[in-house]
Amino acid sequence: MPASMQGKMQPTIYRFKLGGFEVTSIMDSKVIRAGLTPSYGGEANADAVKALAKASRIDADRYEHPFTPLLVNTGKELVLFDTGNGSLREEHEQLKNRLPAGNLVARMKEAGYKPEDVDVVVLTHGHPDHIGGLTKGGQPVFPNARYVFGAAEFDFWNKGENVREARKFNRELYVKIVVPLANRATMTKPGDEVVPGIRAVDAFGHSPGLLAFTIESDGKHMINWADTAGHYVVSLQRPDLPLDVDDDKEKAAATRKRIFDMVAKEDLLVAGFHMPFPGLGYVERGQGGYSWVPHSYQMNL
Ligand SMILES: [Zn+2]
Repeated sequence: MPASMQGKMQPTIYRFKLGGFEVTSIMDSKVIRAGLTPSYGGEANADAVKALAKASRIDADRYEHPFTPLLVNTGKELVLFDTGNGSLREEHEQLKNRLPAGNLVARMKEAGYKPEDVDVVVLTHGHPDHIGGLTKGGQPVFPNARYVFGAAEFDFWNKGENVREARKFNRELYVKIVVPLANRATMTKPGDEVVPGIRAVDAFGHSPGLLAFTIESDGKHMINWADTAGHYVVSLQRPDLPLDVDDDKEKAAATRKRIFDMVAKEDLLVAGFHMPFPGLGYVERGQGGYSWVPHSYQMNL
């Protein structure tokens, strides 16, 4: 008897040491989306995007979009950045065909952590795929955690002024999921320290108050840039292209260039929420743009 086909298999957990910290990338979920165009750069840039895809040996008509929260154990506190999609799909009819079911808690268990172990939940921003796993059936998923929310981001969604049509439902979700937790939250702004070794960086644009975070232990540095880049080829090589899900398109493009420049100059290891799993890599400057250099084994040594 020939061996039976077992179906595709893909890793979802990766852990490494950064100085005295342990850092774990956990893929909450992923979707296969249709077309880099028009999401990246609209129809006007379809040919350019197709050419970039071809040169990088990826399909321009279908792309993998992973959701990868990051867990940092500083030795004193267990810090979770973003919470994935959680049960949004089950709880909201509108999201059924848009978001996959979240697996963060199940995969954290595989990695050796219980939800009760999390001391701090940091939200980089308020988009559904980052806040979805905070609560289930209205109850906090991480019962012992305190929260760190971006102050500008919180103000924007809480006030609800100038929310564009496409984000009205996002605002409803934020008010339902995040706002009730404000009494256990620290409101953070760029430059603030979250816990010793972790500091917020201005990445405003993709969302009104998106925060990136530098992570440093024993002289080893990295950055969690969250959603600064949406796609590892297009966002890096053409940071100027507007992305449909960027809330402030001009600011998002300027932020991409500023952060890519900083990362390339400082040769930082990057964790990116939507970069190919394990979401880790480096940035090189190229002609006019940048390129993503995926992590290989640097952090295994
Ligand atoms: Zn996202």
